[in-house]
Amino acid sequence: MVNDHLITTQKTKQYIGRFAPSPSGPLHFGSLVAALASYLDAKANNGQWLLRIEDLDPPREPVGAADNIIHQLESLGLLWDGEVLFQSKRIEAYYSALTELATEGLCFRCFCSRQDVRATKNKYNGKCRANGLSARDLQYPINEYPGTSIRIRTDSKTVSFEDTILGSFRSQLSESGGDFVIRRKDGMVAYQLAVVIDDAWQGVTNVVRGVDLLSSTPKQRYLQTVLGLAQPTYTHTPVVTDTNGTKLSKQTFACAIDPAEAFPLLFRALTMLGQSPPKQRVFSRSPRSLLRWAIDHWELQSVPKLAKIAVDST
Ligand SMILES: [Zn+2]
Repeated sequence: MVNDHLITTQKTKQYIGRFAPSPSGPLHFGSLVAALASYLDAKANNGQWLLRIEDLDPPREPVGAADNIIHQLESLGLLWDGEVLFQSKRIEAYYSALTELATEGLCFRCFCSRQDVRATKNKYNGKCRANGLSARDLQYPINEYPGTSIRIRTDSKTVSFEDTILGSFRSQLSESGGDFVIRRKDGMVAYQLAVVIDDAWQGVTNVVRGVDLLSSTPKQRYLQTVLGLAQPTYTHTPVVTDTNGTKLSKQTFACAIDPAEAFPLLFRALTMLGQSPPKQRVFSRSPRSLLRWAIDHWELQSVPKLAKIAVDST
């Protein structure tokens, strides 16, 4: 009886992970490493792995980029569960969260330019805090262009969280940038808010992503707290750099991955994540058989506790 009871109460909810690229270009090797880490952690925990396309910045999204990412993942054998979620279809949900934050008196209109904020060492000085919001500010699309951005008050709140690879983090939001933008001047909801709303809506329990997003985590935890949302577990994996230590990104024109090279790329990504697959020939160059091995042998604790790993380090 006692054991039965324990089994029932210890039953944990199902793991739900996600990969959430922005379609500003095709996936490159760095994004493949991030995708693979979140995929393997989800599948090794018998979880679901969702795909979300973060398409909230149309001017920076080449036509066909989202389709291209979807095809790249398919050719790598990184198959997601359920429907792909497109953030561009979710604007109503984001605005409803924005309205909720405004109702709680946490938001204000900010007229500061990027240069103004840069002049205070990228720490927002609270200059526009006294500004209220009107119902017009909470309508989409906005009536004026460019409009004003909306920031959320952070006051002296401290956020702490445990990263499963990197350990404990504690951050005082006022020290790490202060009140941050939750709606951009173009009327689009900012990345931080959209991510938090979608992670909660999709029931994401585990966020596994590149350490380049570590500085976003305290902001997202703060938004989850003020919105009363569940908080996922966070894991930040090293970002892949070129030999000069520069992060591979769409901006640095890192080469897009070639689907024909799926097997060697996955193999290389796996070793960069600290995993030790047997010799390549065991898998007869089949991405699925390599992924099967990787799911069965995934060791999160073997992922390097580093901010960066250079692409030629393997
Ligand atoms: Zn301002």
